[in-house]
Amino acid sequence: MEDARCAGCNPHYYKIISDYLGENEKSLLFLREHGVLPRSVSCPHCNLPCKYREDRHVWYCGRWKKIAKTKRRKSCVFSTSDYTGTFLQGTHLEPFKVVLFVNHWLQKHWDHETVIKCIGMSKTSSVDWRSFCSEVTQNWLQNQNSIGGAGVIVEIDETLLVRRKYNRGRQLSQVWVFGGIERDSKKKFVVPLVGSDRSADTLIPLIKQFILPGSVICSDGWAAYRNLKQHGYEHLVINHSENFVDPHFPHIHTQNIERVWRDLKEFIKRPGMRADYLQQYLSRYLFIKSCETPLHNFFTEAARLYPPQGGRAREGPLPPPIPMEEDSSSESE
Ligand SMILES: [Zn+2]
Ligand SMILES: [Zn+2]
Repeated sequence: MEDARCAGCNPHYYKIISDYLGENEKSLLFLREHGVLPRSVSCPHCNLPCKYREDRHVWYCGRWKKIAKTKRRKSCVFSTSDYTGTFLQGTHLEPFKVVLFVNHWLQKHWDHETVIKCIGMSKTSSVDWRSFCSEVTQNWLQNQNSIGGAGVIVEIDETLLVRRKYNRGRQLSQVWVFGGIERDSKKKFVVPLVGSDRSADTLIPLIKQFILPGSVICSDGWAAYRNLKQHGYEHLVINHSENFVDPHFPHIHTQNIERVWRDLKEFIKRPGMRADYLQQYLSRYLFIKSCETPLHNFFTEAARLYPPQGGRAREGPLPPPIPMEEDSSSESE
């Protein structure tokens, strides 16, 4: 089995479609290169590498061991499915469809109908895979890298995303989000808040999680930000009475984070966006926007969230026939 790990790829949308459509073996290799599927499996009993059986997608040990105090030997029965513990655990979707589905899902404009037709999968399966994918990006959202650093200007702000639910009168779906952006590099983080709590008790821990100490934070005069200096930040507050950049302090503004909010609101306003899925759209949008190589990053994230062979290996005899090879160490009598 090849041990190559992809260090970073950015294949073109149409290249992915043409390369992987109907190509299960190629797709499995792709998933292995990105750590989604195991590149090797070690037998927990023998502490030695397992062999891979391609036709059944099973890793097995099968080493011959001496039975203590007898002259008899038995073979190790450890085996585990290739998908155990992984992003693909329990799926019946063919590997190439998984790769293509994710590729579709990571496009700014995607819809179920196109995917269902293009890949040939059921609506139910498509709905399932959408939530599996969301799980990956929502997890990524919680583990974003921190930004800022000594002297680095970071703009912060909160905003309310609202979407009216169709056919349900005046009912609204809404989520408060909080975020920050480095003014120069445009590196950013955005996190959804629980309910409408924008108190210091909620926001200060997030600031400490995502913004490095010593950063120069620009914000409006929201009360929760009042004590930022006590937490190791410089703090520039926008003059509240002015709704534009103060000519005397042109560097005190939050125009960059406001632009992020505008883009985000534009994105969730698109037709077809269901209000119930605001959180999902948020993480997908930010993932696509933040990653230079979304497909590569996505599968790397999926591998981190579902590390292969996460200890749920099954034990039991393998379906015959299994080509058993004798372990050389058990040959010495
Ligand atoms: Zn890659
Ligand atoms: Zn073994």
